[in-house]
This record gives sequence, C-alpha cells and structure tokens, in this order.
Amino acid sequence: AKANGKGTFAVFDQAIGSQTIRTMELEVSLRHALEREEFFLVFQPIVAINSGKIQGFEALLRWQHPEYGLIVPSVFIPIAEEMGIISMLDGWVLQNACQQLRRWQQQYPMLNLTMSVNLSSANFMFSNLVETVIQVLEATQILGRHLKLEITESIVMKDPDGSAKVLEKLKEYGVGILLDDFGTGHSSLSYLHQLPFDGLKIDRSFVQEAQYNPQSLEIIKTIISLAKGLRLKIIAEGVETGFQRQMLQDLGCQLGQGYLWAKPLTKRDGDRFIADNVKAMML
Ligand code: C2E
Ligand code: CA
Ligand code: CA
Ligand code: CA
Repeated sequence: AKANGKGTFAVFDQAIGSQTIRTMELEVSLRHALEREEFFLVFQPIVAINSGKIQGFEALLRWQHPEYGLIVPSVFIPIAEEMGIISMLDGWVLQNACQQLRRWQQQYPMLNLTMSVNLSSANFMFSNLVETVIQVLEATQILGRHLKLEITESIVMKDPDGSAKVLEKLKEYGVGILLDDFGTGHSSLSYLHQLPFDGLKIDRSFVQEAQYNPQSLEIIKTIISLAKGLRLKIIAEGVETGFQRQMLQDLGCQLGQGYLWAKPLTKRDGDRFIADNVKAMML
C-alpha cells in the first residue's frame, strides 16, 4: 500500500477508518525509528516550589516522524507497547537521559541534579529491567540516587509482589522510585507503605482543577498529608499559574513541575535554564 502513495490511503480511510491506517503506518515506521535516530528527548525541570531552585529534570520522549512531523508519546507509546518493542525504547531513553544527566552534573557538580525517567507498564515486569538500570548507571557513571524511575499505579496493581521484588532490588542501588499520576488510576492505599517509594507525583488534573473545584482541593490536601505521614516526597505536576504554585506551597508540597517554570526543553534550552537558575539563586 505504501508504494502506491498517499492517494491510496484516502480510499482506504473510508473503508476501514483512518485510525487503523494511521496505526498501521506508524507501526511500520516505528520499527525503524530507533535505528534511523528519529527519537529525541526533551527535559522538563523539576524545581523547589518555594524558591524555584532546580533539583532535576524529567526526560520526555519525542518522535520526529519523517512524514508526519512531531509525534507525542500518548500516540506512539501505546503502539510500541502493543508491538512489544517498548522495553527497547525505554532502554534507549534510560541510556540517553543518564548520558545527558552526566553532562549536566559535570558542568554543575554542586547542584546534585537528578533525572526522572518514565517506565512503561508493559515493560516493567517482563524485561531485565534491573540489569538494564545497573548497566546504564555503570556506563554513564551516574549514582543510583540521582536516578528516579517513574511508574504508575497500574503497574503495581497488576502484580504487587513482583513489583516489590523489582523495586527492592533497585532500592539497593539507591535508585529512587516515584509513583506517577497519583490518584488517577485505581488507587489502592494498601501498597503505598508496603513498597519502597520515595515520592508521589500529583497528577496535573488535580493541580489544575483545585483552583475551581473544592473536591479536587480536598484530594490534593489528602494526598499531601498522606505522603507526609509516609515520609514520601511530593511533586506537583502541571503547575501553570502563580496561584497554583502558592496554593501548593501553602499545603506543604515541596517540588513542582510545569509550564510556570518551564516546558519540556531541548538540551540547549536545558543548558540555558540551569545557567539562569544558578544566577537567580545567587542573587
Ligand atoms: P507524564 O509522565 O505524566 O508526563 C507529564 C506530561 O505533562 C508531559 O507530557 C508534559 O509535557 C506535560 N506537562 C508538563 N507540565 C505541564 C503543564 O504545566 N501543563 C500541561 N498542560 N502539561 C504539562 P508528554 O511529554 O506529552 O508525555 C505524556 C506522557 O507520555 C507522559 O506523562 C508519560 O506517561 C508518557 N511518556 C513520556 N515520555 C516517556 C518515555 O520516555 N517512556 C515512557 N514509557 N513513557 C513516556
Ligand atoms: Ca512522568
Ligand atoms: Ca505524571
Ligand atoms: Ca500525568
């Protein structure tokens, strides 16, 4: 079908739906995307809520498709999971994120910068995750405690015992584990204290609604007091306004991430962000 060019797709579109064609097309090109170096990372700063001081970055994956242009992870990650190539992709992200962290650490040794990397749920249990992490840490000379792995509740819910084993192992190397998108999935509080988490990330839907919706505000308050009781760090996602920042600070949230400080940045913009941040902190 590909050889026939774009005109053919228009016909197929009506027959089996553009979604199917699109997915099939992406599948074909996704197989080659890694070797063709079409992936790249952007880095979103994570800062102290009260001062804005940088503490690290979250690595976020992007795909520069030769025909379709920039494709966001919500589109291609599910396809990569379906195809069974997500562990390769996550491995690539881990390696490249740690390499970049190493560069920034060498430039700014006193900042103790950390790097957060997302792990797909499809990848978590079935691959040699622990070995991969250890290997990457060694190769890039990153200390375990400077790496944070972000996992979602659904991973843990699927297999609490299996997760516990993997997380304990990672913990031995000092690697931090953050529970991502907290409160959006089928939460169960029972495993929160059983598993070695270092922190919770409050989903941006709560952060953004809290301003208008008393129930969302209550949820955030509850999450924060829960996290404090369990001695977990709290990172608020999707902070876009000064109002939200102040609210989170008043509630005792320590760390934030969002457009208020910076969007996900290219390496070069990341350089600039750190330099500006260091300057601002010295004033
Ligand atoms: P996430 O882990 O919850 O990442 C945060 C998402 O929120 C990012 O979207 C980020 O660009 C966006 N964001 C950050 N601050 C703001 C804000 O102030 N306002 C708004 N409206 N959005 C904000 P992105 O980069 O499109 O990533 C979407 C999801 O894709 C991520 O959600 C994560 O689950 C997944 N993902 C991204 N990179 C990777 C990766 O390397 N591996 C895996 N397995 N998943 C990834
Ligand atoms: Ca994340
Ligand atoms: Ca998140
Ligand atoms: Ca989220």
